[in-house]
Amino acid sequence: MFHHFYANNEPGVSKGLMQEHDGGRYLIQNPPQESMTEEEIDHIYDIGYERDVHPYYKSQGEVRGLQTIQFSVTTHHGCYGECNFCAITVHQGRTIRSRSQKSIVSEIDQFKEHKDFKGIINDVGGATANMYGFECNKKLKSGVCQDIPCTSSQVCPILKPTHAPQIELLGKIRKLPHVKKAFVNSGIRYDLIQEDTKHGKQYLKTLVDHHISGQMKVAPEHIDDKVLKYMNKPDKSTLMRFKKDFDDLNKKSGKKQFLTYYLIAAHPGSQLKDMENLKEFANSELQLNPEQVQVFIPTPSTYSALMYYTEMDPWTREKMFIEKDPMRKQKQKDVVTEKTKYRKSSKKESYIKAKEKFNYRAYKELHGFRKYY
Ligand code: SF4
Repeated sequence: MFHHFYANNEPGVSKGLMQEHDGGRYLIQNPPQESMTEEEIDHIYDIGYERDVHPYYKSQGEVRGLQTIQFSVTTHHGCYGECNFCAITVHQGRTIRSRSQKSIVSEIDQFKEHKDFKGIINDVGGATANMYGFECNKKLKSGVCQDIPCTSSQVCPILKPTHAPQIELLGKIRKLPHVKKAFVNSGIRYDLIQEDTKHGKQYLKTLVDHHISGQMKVAPEHIDDKVLKYMNKPDKSTLMRFKKDFDDLNKKSGKKQFLTYYLIAAHPGSQLKDMENLKEFANSELQLNPEQVQVFIPTPSTYSALMYYTEMDPWTREKMFIEKDPMRKQKQKDVVTEKTKYRKSSKKESYIKAKEKFNYRAYKELHGFRKYY
């Protein structure tokens, strides 16, 4: 049932579903509405908003959540990252709908009229910042592939990401005289940066030079291949290549900026031993004691929640390990966040492997496990 639900959330390729209950009563899932055109999405953001708390709540005191969103700008809708623990793909769909640069710049231009604006834009992004401004041609013509993901441990070779539109957009924002700093705080897919051989490095340099504040947050979530596969995340060699590029750029720019890493403890498939390995990797390869570790929460409408409740691999139906004991879940987090002394590994480069080139057929063979029916 979940495979049917998940496969029928994409405009253009999805069908309506119904399920009978108690004889004669039906639960209906309507197909999603069509994706907005650029003109339509621009219109939504051009309407004009107060950028303030509703007066009803304002009268009850400060709303701290406002600080992060008041002067943040949405550049696009959608995400094809499909991390299995995240529901955004189901909410927003796998097709990116980007706003025009004109609409985004014009929204930011209006900030100068706002009484609270001090020149700082907290975020220019979307569910994943660097999916702005490009899409797979096959997807635009005939809808998403139902049997394979666009990104997983490898990026689909048909996708051909380019960061040129986002570099151009950020350049235009920097030129606005009332903008002192525009941060990109939304998540970044570092595998897309590496896949973009033409503009990827230039994009990363743009972020390092202008759009982060001393630290850049990335979300590898784990380093164990088995757990990463259950999460549908890129492997650790992709992370280490990105770290090397980031460190090299900072060295060249003379900046002391560093990466922070979001990690998940007790994700389906993750055992205490996997977390101990993660800790060792963080100490020796990343040279830090991780702080941003969250204990897995089974979010509704996600494959990870399906794994959590059924205790099965959703594709093979084989039994899988799930940590459900609250104390042992916490222990998985504690072993990683514990403050320990560590030494730099002499094998620092051991995870940096040459990038493998896949053709579409090979990609399908590798990721065909996503086939639903
Ligand atoms: S061809 Fe690749 S990038 Fe395009 S929709 Fe299919 S899986 Fe996604």
